[in-house]
Amino acid sequence: MTKDFLKNANDEYDVIVIGSGLAGLTSANTLARAGYSVLLLEHHYQLGGMATWFKRRGGHIFDISLHGFPIGMIKSCRKYWTPEIAESIVQLKGIRFENPQFSLQTTFNRDDFTRLLIDKFRIEPATVDRFFDAARQMNFYDDQDKTTRELFDEFFPGRDDVVRLLMEPITYANGSTLEDPAITYGIVFSNFMSKGVFTFQGGTDHLVNQMKAEMTKNGVDIRIRCLVEKIVVSPDRVVQGVVVNGKTIRCKAVLSNANIKTTVTNLVGPEHFDTEFFDEARAVRLNNSSCQVYIALKPGEEFDYVGDLLFHSEHKGFDIDAMLSRHVSSRTFSFYYPSIRPGSDRYLIVSSTNANYSDWASLSEEDYQAAKQDLIETTLDCLDQYVPGVRQKLDHVEASTPRTFQHYTRHAHGASFGTKFEGLKISKGLPEQIAGLYHAGSVGIIMSGWLGAVNYGVIVSNDVDKYLTLASTRV
Ligand SMILES: Cc1cc2nc3c(=O)[nH]c(=O)nc-3n(C[C@H](O)[C@H](O)[C@H](O)COP(=O)(O)OP(=O)(O)OC[C@H]3O[C@@H](n4cnc5c(N)ncnc54)[C@H](O)[C@@H]3O)c2cc1C
Repeated sequence: MTKDFLKNANDEYDVIVIGSGLAGLTSANTLARAGYSVLLLEHHYQLGGMATWFKRRGGHIFDISLHGFPIGMIKSCRKYWTPEIAESIVQLKGIRFENPQFSLQTTFNRDDFTRLLIDKFRIEPATVDRFFDAARQMNFYDDQDKTTRELFDEFFPGRDDVVRLLMEPITYANGSTLEDPAITYGIVFSNFMSKGVFTFQGGTDHLVNQMKAEMTKNGVDIRIRCLVEKIVVSPDRVVQGVVVNGKTIRCKAVLSNANIKTTVTNLVGPEHFDTEFFDEARAVRLNNSSCQVYIALKPGEEFDYVGDLLFHSEHKGFDIDAMLSRHVSSRTFSFYYPSIRPGSDRYLIVSSTNANYSDWASLSEEDYQAAKQDLIETTLDCLDQYVPGVRQKLDHVEASTPRTFQHYTRHAHGASFGTKFEGLKISKGLPEQIAGLYHAGSVGIIMSGWLGAVNYGVIVSNDVDKYLTLASTRV
């Protein structure tokens, strides 16, 4: 007999949260703290969405998306989670760039970038200052037509090397390109530049387990292996509940942390939306996906400090097509030393590359396995220059592709960073179409990444709170 993952669940809740990515987790916790009954439904056997980990024989634990986030996470975690979670956030000081144009190490903050731009790239100090100020002053309500390319052309015309320094890490962090609105770049870049790059000491498993304990304390009913098939909407466009693992559970509000496009097209369906809104949602562009190679050294094997995050590229100039290509010429290495997981003696490396789903989707099983093996071999070849003799020290290596990300998170095309900018309008517009329906999660570039997802979860929870408060006064 198959296990009933909804055993003893109530027939009705105030709010059902679909998906346990960082936005879903934060929303569930915020709403439970506000006194609502909350059911959190996650289709995977583990919480966290992209913020997750996996274990392999020999005691290796790999983090998927724990590479770096801005300092704002400390404040958000303290305010919306616990002081203990906030206190585990530490700075990564060694951000390295190795490419045909330059080789450097930085703390990735405004002071150090100012020094580099002036001393190494020979940019006028006044221009550097004006650029940082312009980026920092950008906000959501600014001109959305100006592209990041136009922003760089204005300050650093003809300086492909400067564009590379400023853009490459942000492209890795959220998939954005030179053609995306400059505000998406300005907001994310300035968040990082304020104090540098931070990580969670103890690993994603430690973080998510602390979040789980906090949600349990606040009364969230957490269910894993629960796939939501449908959001039930009345003919007059009011949320009624969800169908999950074949069972209907009623609720007053649904907050979907599933991909915004999937939420509209699959979980709700066109019949419940204005045609114009539905068509606009369908036209939203997904962001790109990723490939990763996870590498663990044998117990007792180690490597000298080579930096924390290394942006390696063999390509000349910043080129988004080259960064996404299956013929990889750019990689970001995250080096995990034992200090990141106190109590562990393991050295691990995760190599990440941005990737196109279409390059991987239609490969036969045989070609797919061969392509994964090729990705592993070329990554090890490249890594050998930073970790000499890595093949001899190796205990475990494996790769993931856009197909893997799609399988585990159900994001269409394995989109790693939600949607392009236009997705934000659809996400925000949901409750105007269907009363009680909300979305929080990676969307519109600025609401993606660890910090974006957590903060968007809080913003949308406040909207749900207002809706439920109003609904209760109407009864
Ligand atoms: C390789 C990689 C590296 C990254 N590196 C960084 C980094 O260094 N720094 C950073 O800030 N960000 C990074 N990110 C991005 C960051 O991890 C994500 O933006 C963030 O974790 C997304 O959170 P989310 O709330 O949008 O939800 P997601 O993580 O997308 O989770 C959505 C959840 O919903 C569940 N779900 C979907 N549909 C259903 C359904 N029908 N029923 C039940 N459950 C469902 C999924 O299983 C999933 O758990 C990285 C991402 C990737 C892929």
